Amino acid sequence: VRYADGKGWYDARVEPRAPIPMDPAAAVLHYAQEIFEGLKAYKMADGGVAMFRPDANALRFVKSAERMAMPPLAPAAFLQSLREIIRIDQDWIPQSDEGSLYLRPYAFASEVFLGVRPALEYLYLVIASPVGAYFSGGIKPVSVWATPDYTRAAPGGTGAAKCGGNYAAGLSAQADAIEHGCDQVVYLDAVERKYVDELGGMNVFFVLDDGSLATPPLTGTILPGITRDSVIKLAERAGHQVVERPVSLDEWREGAASGRIREAFACGTAAVITPIGTIKSLDGEFTVADGGSGEVTMALRKQLVDIQRGRAADPFGWVHRVL
Ligand code: PMP
Repeated sequence: VRYADGKGWYDARVEPRAPIPMDPAAAVLHYAQEIFEGLKAYKMADGGVAMFRPDANALRFVKSAERMAMPPLAPAAFLQSLREIIRIDQDWIPQSDEGSLYLRPYAFASEVFLGVRPALEYLYLVIASPVGAYFSGGIKPVSVWATPDYTRAAPGGTGAAKCGGNYAAGLSAQADAIEHGCDQVVYLDAVERKYVDELGGMNVFFVLDDGSLATPPLTGTILPGITRDSVIKLAERAGHQVVERPVSLDEWREGAASGRIREAFACGTAAVITPIGTIKSLDGEFTVADGGSGEVTMALRKQLVDIQRGRAADPFGWVHRVL
């Protein structure tokens, strides 16, 4: 779908995947005016096909557009584009319980000019790709590197938007995490460099010894994850109190040592919910409990996956059936 100032979104079409012509002066190539979403279509227990909370992705896409001074795409058009590509690519949806068709809607500034201002022309596209299980051979806790060198977002920055630039800025941090023998980076807040923000592509939760859950608040420096929101609702339904509050790396370390923090997990569309195993920082490394898969973590994971796959009732109306 194209956008031109004064004309709005127009020219929606489906084409076989192929390179798209880009002018060397297309604004996105210079100033990174680009946003995206990531979600999955998958087979349900009854053989149908569904997406999980795509309306939430549509709203986040609108908010990301606002932050990046881009024209919003109406949620109805966003949803229609996804339904259309799923219908066309339905034979590519893996049958397996763990596989899915990954959907990547994105929009970028295509106008040709070199000044620094919001563009007047954009392209919105969706690509789809089959993906297998995130964890092959069972769930494996992720290890994280609490980076002393990088932050993901500062107050007033673009942390709450799903824009490509955030991820470009995170590549060095992720490389650093891998160099320290960890799977993922865990970002600390930009102001005090103390409080846990999120991982490179997942939000974080802590399970405390009183059965409550704590998760960093949405203050604009972390991505408002749709899995995060779902976990909060499922945990509350299961009788856990969920508190959105800052949790420092010190509290994490001390809580792990004292038993006040029983479990830590990360969540996002790709892995759904995954335990956090080892936490490494300049002060050394530690694990929460034995660094394995905690009981509350795994119970929440099962509840969420069962709703997604149609094996459990859908009390919140999250499952969006397509076929
Ligand atoms: N934080 C970041 C930085 C992410 O890229 C993602 C993945 N979109 C998440 C959190 C989790 O968000 P969601 O649950 O919507 O996938």
